[in-house]
Formats: sequence, structure tokens, C-alpha cells
Amino acid sequence: MRRSSLGVLVSILLASGPASLAQDLSPAEKKLAQTVDARLGDEMAALEKVVNIDSGTFNTVGVREVGRFFEKELQGLGFTTRWLSMPDAMHRAGHLVAERVSAKPLGKRVLLIGHMDTVFEGQGHRFQNEGGVIRGAGVIDMKGGDVVLLFALRALEGAGLLKGATIRVFLTGDEENPGLPTSESRRDLVAVAKESDIVLSFEPALVAGTIVLGRRGQSAWSLDVTGAQGHSAYVLRPRGGAGAIYETSRILEGFRAAFSAGNVTVNPGLFLGGTDVAYDATKGAGTSAGKWNVIARTVTVKGDLRALDDAEREAAKARMREIAATSLPKTSAKLEFEDVYPGWPTTDGNRSVLKIINAVGHALGQPPLTEADPATRGAGDSNFVAFLSVADGLGVKGEGFHAPDESVDPTSIGPATTRAAVVIARLLHPTN
Ligand SMILES: [Zn+2]
Repeated sequence: MRRSSLGVLVSILLASGPASLAQDLSPAEKKLAQTVDARLGDEMAALEKVVNIDSGTFNTVGVREVGRFFEKELQGLGFTTRWLSMPDAMHRAGHLVAERVSAKPLGKRVLLIGHMDTVFEGQGHRFQNEGGVIRGAGVIDMKGGDVVLLFALRALEGAGLLKGATIRVFLTGDEENPGLPTSESRRDLVAVAKESDIVLSFEPALVAGTIVLGRRGQSAWSLDVTGAQGHSAYVLRPRGGAGAIYETSRILEGFRAAFSAGNVTVNPGLFLGGTDVAYDATKGAGTSAGKWNVIARTVTVKGDLRALDDAEREAAKARMREIAATSLPKTSAKLEFEDVYPGWPTTDGNRSVLKIINAVGHALGQPPLTEADPATRGAGDSNFVAFLSVADGLGVKGEGFHAPDESVDPTSIGPATTRAAVVIARLLHPTN
């Protein structure tokens, strides 16, 4: 891909004016931008290659193949790589870690994160670049971002800017459906982050012109309610009690009233009730049996809870337990939680990363980015490293996340790659 003639004209105008934005770039940074531009054809070819490897989360063979591509490329840039396998029972491919470690890094220790899996299982859409739009399975979420990350590193390595730096890449193999418990499937990500200072993640920006500096965490909950099975003629009378379904309705109505506004959302996603229920967690499906003239004996509800930080999450759990505990006659409820993603609150540290990104964007003539509302998107791998300064959404622009017709704007690839290269350069070499 070549820069459009308008782009060249703008560059010439900017370069000639005394107040040129390009003046904000050091000579080394200008060289990075030129290198990225010169390699856009290669970058597109790499994107085509990885998009055409099917790598739905449960396609462990495909995810590993995508991993091998990045592993080889990163080894070529002087990174030491290792593959982290998951336990067989988890049915996940594992993760790729690549690192260049300096005993005395000059600047920040940077961690770049991406994921190799896509939401699409089976054969996804092939790569297609037509009419100014790139399509293909995982092209925006997030093979586009993975390739941006790689080509930013290629430019940095070519300029000698990875020397003396500590920089790590962590590509997960199950971001779209993380192996549970996440305390196990994300243990290594957390460990690698603990050896880093700053995290940049290359997911796409869901809302154009924004960067993600926080996201709510997610916990799963399971509500099991028991009632006294009996003749329906006595329901809500001393002899019959409320039954499991009335009691569960009371509890869920309590949740609805308590969480209708604010940061925290509580969603019941599945409800099975009657005299007998069976739930299969691996399928996310179940059956229930009952009769209209029998008071329901049992209910199972599966839901989630989203909150910005641990304190908010624990307060919400306490409120939910309180609601569940005030049982109607002849019923009892058991409410259990499993934390899947920790919360990722927006911090000053995260905002300081945005400042660096915007300074670089300004120097490159790119429009400033604003912080996205943390409540507007689901949790991701960035949540697990939220104890560091983190910015996410540095990937490519496009549409149709998690939809079969997802697409990328090809003109966003070069600017995203240049921005990433210069941002990383400034983090690794703050004195430049
Ligand atoms: Zn993603």
C-alpha cells in the first residue's frame, strides 16, 4: 500500500511550515514512520496470512499455528520465545510469550498484549481486500492489532531501538473464551506483567477516536433455590410455603431493584425451575421438569455481575447475598460466585499513558483520542494486568466485532503501526 497523494501533499505542507507537527518527531522517530510506510505491503501480506489460518478459541491446532507464525517473526527480531501450555482438561491452545530483557533497561519495561484466537470456530471468512475494506475472520478482533504490534517491533528493531530495552509480548490463545479458572489460565500473564511497568494492548477501539483505559470486571454467579415440593393447592399458605420459583422471583426482583442504575450490572442469563432440573455447564444448557399442580422444588439460575473494581464488586456480592438470604417460607437459597475477570479501574497511571499516545498522535498529525467509558465494553485480558498502567484499543479501525462480516479500514493500519512504534520508542528510551 502506498500513501495516498493527499497524504503526501499533507506531509509536504506539514514539513514545510514553521509550526510543522512533524517537528515534534525526532529524526529517529521520522525514520520509524518511513520504515512502517515502506513495509505496508509486507504488513498486509502478514495480515492475510494469519487471517487465513482458522483459529477459533477451541481450534487449538489453528491457534498454535498462528502462534508459530508470530513466534518465528519475533525470534527474528531477537526475542526469546516460549509456549505456555494449558492443562489438557481446559481444551485451550496456550499462550505465546516473547521477551527481550536488558539487565539495566533505560526506560520503562513494556508489555505488549494481543490474542491469537477468534470468536469464530470452523472455517471463517477468508481474507479479502476489496473496495477499500478488508474482511476476514478475526481481521479486526484482533489479528489486525497483532500485526500492528509485530510491524511496530520490526520498525523498532530495524532502527536499533530494541537494544538495551526490556520488552515483552504476550499473545493469549483463549481471549474470546478464557479457560477457567482464570486464576490458572491467566497466571502466567499476571506473572509476566509483574516484571513490566506499562502495558499496551492492541484490541480495536470499539468507538472511533477513543482509547480504553478501564473496563469492568466480570464474575459469574449461580443461584440454587430449594422449596418444599407439594400440592399446589397450598402454595403461599403455611402448609405449602412459597416454592422455589416464587422465592427465586423474589430474589431476582430484589437484584433488579438494587442494580437498575450505577456502575454495577447483574444479569440472570439462564433460569431452570420445577420439580427437577439438570444443568450442563459445558454446553450452557439444561432441562427442567415440573407440573402445574405441584409446588416447584428447585431452581437454578446462572448469571453474571460486572463491576469496575474489587470494592464495588464485593459490595455488590454482599448486597446480593443479603437479598437472597431473606427467604420466603419453606425455601432456602444458595448463591455462589466465581470471579472471572478482575475490574480494571481507570487510574492516573493509565491516563499518563494516554498523554504519551496523544503526544505521539499529535506529532504524527493524528486526531487526539479520548478515554472510552469503562462501562461500554466487556472485559478482556487487559483486566488481568490492571495493577500496571494500561492502555488498550491501539489496534486497527473497523466494524463488526464478533460478527461474521467484521472488517478493517486498510488506511488505519499504517497510522496505528507508526503510532505504536513511536509510543514504544518513547517508553523504552525516554531521553530520546
Ligand atoms: Zn479481542
